[in-house]
Amino acid sequence: MLYGALEAGGTKMVCAIGDENGKIIEQISIPTTTPDETMPAIIDYFKDKDIKALGIACFGPIDLDKKSSTYGHILITPKLAWRNFDMVGTMKNALSVPIGFDTDVNGSLLGEVTWGAAKGISDAIYITIGTGVGGGIWSNGGLVHGMLHPELGHIKLIKASNDSYKCRCPYHDSCLEGLSCGPAVEERWNAKARELTDKDEVWELESYYIAQALANLILILSPKKIILGGGIMHQTQLFPLIRKKVLENINGYIVTKELEDIDNYIIPAGLNDDQGIMGAIKLAMDADL
Ligand code: ADP
Ligand code: ZN
Repeated sequence: MLYGALEAGGTKMVCAIGDENGKIIEQISIPTTTPDETMPAIIDYFKDKDIKALGIACFGPIDLDKKSSTYGHILITPKLAWRNFDMVGTMKNALSVPIGFDTDVNGSLLGEVTWGAAKGISDAIYITIGTGVGGGIWSNGGLVHGMLHPELGHIKLIKASNDSYKCRCPYHDSCLEGLSCGPAVEERWNAKARELTDKDEVWELESYYIAQALANLILILSPKKIILGGGIMHQTQLFPLIRKKVLENINGYIVTKELEDIDNYIIPAGLNDDQGIMGAIKLAMDADL
């Protein structure tokens, strides 16, 4: 059985064909410009592929409420050309197959719980630290949507006393994304993040913010696994720093076998950066309308 998978991002649209084992059979990447230019190219790719369903893991905010008149639309996004764009309707009209639809980060998480680092686990979170910061939540064996979908990149953090950088987020003066996303790191230190590997102070501060956020999420959601992905997490020296600071934040208040084995609790993404597109395959497999 063939499934279509679309990982819709702000800079590129990854289109793939996969099977029910999450195997990617072929894939292409199309630059994200405007819907008028980008969507026909995507449709063109999928239209002769004989797919049973399509899964779309999409940048947000998006409407995931199947009862809503704007279900499947992109909502108020800074990417103006995509504001109010009917992503699901456009693909459904063009391909006439069932469409599964969720956030990009929920897609990545779904890939990880189905085939990757959190396979078979009932409660997990996935956070990407890249151009932005976002996260998906898997709770009691299902993705959390709630009234919209989680936006955990914007939780408020206590700023480090030695950090004079102004938060990058236009909405908040001290949020996880505004203080820790790739562009914030690069603006604060005035260098490409991948060129800062040997600057300890960069990763001390970065891990301070990420660990603070994780400790809050652990207290609220009680995940059994935390997966960290995105470009910044390619700096693997962050992992031990984050683990240590998470334990310092929790300060012995929670005692579980997961926290005792923290090296296997806070872990990198397990699917070689294919978690998003593989999650979109699973969204297609689960599509019911
Ligand atoms: P996106 O979030 O746009 O999907 P990425 O997850 O690759 O894409 O995030 C891009 C950001 O991650 C950039 O801001 C860049 O600075 C940072 N980045 C990418 N690769 C690395 C790396 N090897 N080391 C550190 N930072 C990186
Ligand atoms: Zn914010």
